[in-house]
Amino acid sequence: MKLMSKRAGILFTLCILFAAGMMFLLFSYVKDAPKWATSPVNQHLYKGGELVRAGQILDAKGVMLASTVENERVYNPDENTRVALMHLVGDPAQGVGTALQVTYRSKLVGWDYLNGTYHFGNKIGNNIRTTVDADLARAAYAALGGRRGTVGVMNYKTGELLCMVSAPSFDPAAPPDIESDPEKYDGVYINRLLSATYTPGSIFKLVTAAAAIDNIPGIGSREFVCEGSYDLLGTEITCPAVHGRQSFEETMVNSCNIAYAQMAAELGPETMTAYAEKAGVMKSPELDGIGVANGHFSLNNATPGEIGWAGVGQSDTLVNPLSYLGYVAAIAGGGDAVKPHIIKSIRTPNGFPARFELDLPVDESILAQGTAGKLQQMMRADVVNGYGEGNLAGYGLSAKSGTAEVTDGKEPHSWFCGFLDSETAPLAFIVIVENGGAGSSAAATVARTVLEAAVGA
Ligand SMILES: [Zn+2]
Repeated sequence: MKLMSKRAGILFTLCILFAAGMMFLLFSYVKDAPKWATSPVNQHLYKGGELVRAGQILDAKGVMLASTVENERVYNPDENTRVALMHLVGDPAQGVGTALQVTYRSKLVGWDYLNGTYHFGNKIGNNIRTTVDADLARAAYAALGGRRGTVGVMNYKTGELLCMVSAPSFDPAAPPDIESDPEKYDGVYINRLLSATYTPGSIFKLVTAAAAIDNIPGIGSREFVCEGSYDLLGTEITCPAVHGRQSFEETMVNSCNIAYAQMAAELGPETMTAYAEKAGVMKSPELDGIGVANGHFSLNNATPGEIGWAGVGQSDTLVNPLSYLGYVAAIAGGGDAVKPHIIKSIRTPNGFPARFELDLPVDESILAQGTAGKLQQMMRADVVNGYGEGNLAGYGLSAKSGTAEVTDGKEPHSWFCGFLDSETAPLAFIVIVENGGAGSSAAATVARTVLEAAVGA
């Protein structure tokens, strides 16, 4: 009897181990099978490392960006389109890790858990339609004019990204020898909208202003005085101009460092950190499952001077362009953040949806409506009294510029972000031109060109 129960015990243990092993195998299969099946070593799907059985990638209007023809991966016939959209679509060597040909590989080759990749026989995998407009991407890349930088344009009501361009780029149909010119192709595989972070400079004043509107009593009737330099408890805060006496509204048009440093010091590290967090500075939302770089904001043990400079956007703060575009979109949308996305649909070759398409925008209120409204008004005043609206009169262009000092002795980066207060074109935008110089000029010119293309002005 004792022997029997011992054997039963061993048998029972073996059964448990077997079940655990099966569970592990099943778990690994569910977790990693799409990766195994669509790995570049799978010769059914790749030729010389390239995708040869993947479906099409289309722009928002249905323009073919990438396709497979007779086992060859081909790209749009127009070189400018190929270059402008290389970071979205991907390159043959799969160097851009965030591109759709890498991140949506299993969807493109039509892999699924039930059938693997066999079900389509000689057919080609799923087609992905993106939200991006190829015409706009071309206009944006051309407007950057050979300089490094990025342009993002998003519909702030739906979250659809209409434009995502990163420079430098290259032609995926004729990839250059990157190694031969490291200077020209520096960071070429990085999609700067998604994967880069930059010092925000004065565009961060939109975060400080939101905190001030909510937390400094009577801010609307406060007067700020700028004499070009100010001693903030032992730290000198400098301003590029002498702005004299100014109302809270005027501090934004003037982009006065002294006013914003004073506000930040008065608000204190906890409130400033809370508003940076609301703005999505430290944690970027994913873009349809594609990872986006996180920024940085920390006032641990900061002196009042450091808090002041942080409020101006010139400390060790870093922001990711897409994430900050989301904040600007929330201001434009009356305080509600809408989740950005880039995939319109994924369809089988027969036209059936290849994923659940529940594109309900997930709204999250990050600013009170009144706070967003006040910021909208101040950004509109910036354009009317400062930057000018060019050919965009009638579209309610509202914006904030920024200059981000760089440490390598080169020209500073130029930022321009904002939105159109328009029912027909509810667009938020962000532009950074690396080493574009001080002031709004470089980035604002790019932004206006792209927005004019977007609205047909
Ligand atoms: Zn000033």
